[in-house]
Amino acid sequence: MPGKMALVDFNRCRPDSCTGGVCPAAKACPRKLLVQETPHEPPMTNPALCRACGDCVRACPNSAIKLTQF
Ligand code: SF4
Ligand code: SF4
Repeated sequence: MPGKMALVDFNRCRPDSCTGGVCPAAKACPRKLLVQETPHEPPMTNPALCRACGDCVRACPNSAIKLTQF
């Protein structure tokens, strides 16, 4: 069955422009699937468990996260 998952566009992701280098999109994921290991680094997604709710997409100020069909 086709679905969608969140993917980070690393060309658009600018962690330094987010508050204190901390990714608000990672904090927004209700399932804690976006993980930012270190401040000022881009977050990593966990596509296998993503429910495509879009919370992370709305929380990113740089439109760096997209829901992508797979
Ligand atoms: S909110 Fe967006 S631009 Fe900021 S670190 Fe997260 S993914 Fe990157
Ligand atoms: S789309 Fe929803 S479930 Fe998927 S990573 Fe973003 S906030 Fe988490």
